[in-house]
Amino acid sequence: MIRRRITVLGATGSVGASTLDLMAQAEATGTGAFEVEALTGGANIAKLAEQARRWRPKLAVTADPARLNDLRDALSGTDVAVAAGDAAIVEAATRPVDWIMASIVGAAGLKSAWAAAGTGATLALANKESLVCCGPALIERVKRAGGRLIPVDSEHSAIFQVFPAEAPERVAKLILTASGGPFRQTPREQMVAITPEQAVAHPNWSMGAKISVDSATMANKGLEMIEAAYLFDMPQDRIDVVVHPESIIHSLVEYVDGSTLAQMGPPDMRTPIACALAWPDRIAWPAQKLDLAALGRLTFEAPDLTRFPALDLARQALKAGGATPAVFNAANEVAAFAFLDRKLAFLNIAAVVAETLERATKAGMAFGSGDACGAALSVDAETRRMAESVIAGLANAA
Ligand code: NAD
Ligand code: MG
Repeated sequence: MIRRRITVLGATGSVGASTLDLMAQAEATGTGAFEVEALTGGANIAKLAEQARRWRPKLAVTADPARLNDLRDALSGTDVAVAAGDAAIVEAATRPVDWIMASIVGAAGLKSAWAAAGTGATLALANKESLVCCGPALIERVKRAGGRLIPVDSEHSAIFQVFPAEAPERVAKLILTASGGPFRQTPREQMVAITPEQAVAHPNWSMGAKISVDSATMANKGLEMIEAAYLFDMPQDRIDVVVHPESIIHSLVEYVDGSTLAQMGPPDMRTPIACALAWPDRIAWPAQKLDLAALGRLTFEAPDLTRFPALDLARQALKAGGATPAVFNAANEVAAFAFLDRKLAFLNIAAVVAETLERATKAGMAFGSGDACGAALSVDAETRRMAESVIAGLANAA
């Protein structure tokens, strides 16, 4: 029986809701017992209130101060305290618990992930953007606080499960698998007209809008390459990406002796979440199991860097090091949301990232001194302004 006191940051999102769903299933089967300290969400007050009524946390927080009264009304008659705004989310992340899920999307999740990292709790990290922006400092902060960082991203969960942490010199390379996204086979001339609706319809995974766009451009795999480099202390030339459209093998570790270990499972985020929740134990829940005979075959191909240049841009950013991965992240985030808002064409997402990276390099963008989280947030803010001006330039030229 797994017993945990838990906080979920970004509870109303795809990963956050899957976390609570998994916990409910584990409780129903008598394999887990959970108390919830805090839940945070954004604009979807109805969903946050429903979750809070089910789990009775001490605190429920919406990111949006204008919606605090709605949240208060929705939770009237309960003993759940309510709060709103960024500072309240950071306060929620700082509360002592056994386990925190950081599943806010984008750089907006950085401050709370950083706060959670300092508590000594087990940090289940879904928010890959915070690792990309200031991975080494975040990892160091968790260690110093006596906590443990467990990756939730399916690829990194896979590597984590087969990586020899006690003897990393046994590893030759990491191999990240990528589904290839919804446009894996779309000819470039047809990619010009891709709509947000087409881009968020992922063939294998059900995810939030931003990561779905990232999967469609393969910027997601670029972010994951950077994430893997930091989590497993691996240089970029020892991280490969292979397209595997079935999303059954979630990633692999090649050992120096030629043996390669993989982790497999159906594409369901509740499995890597379950791994993070119980680690180093395992929790039983009614997961769908692999039926290899029914699958028949697994296929692989090399990624097409011409149609998906974001992957190589991420590699270059990782090679450049310093603040460049944070620049890549911010430029990509601005471009992905501009695409979702129909202000940018699909193929221009990578173009905006490339141009912003170039401008930032020319401007000598670097981390300032002081707290790594604050330094990363400054680079993030400055890059956002650059990326927005690149997008405005494209709109004017059109
Ligand atoms: P989502 O859009 O479904 O949910 C995001 C959550 O963050 C929501 O609860 C939302 O209310 C909250 N949020 C959004 N903006 C916020 C802000 N400014 N301040 C505070 N809270 C805010 O996203 P998701 O797909 O669940 O992804 C969450 C994170 O997990 C991302 O970093 C993503 O890359 C990562 N991830 C997701 C998946 C997946 O299957 N969805 C897989 C691997 C990694
Ligand atoms: Mg992933």
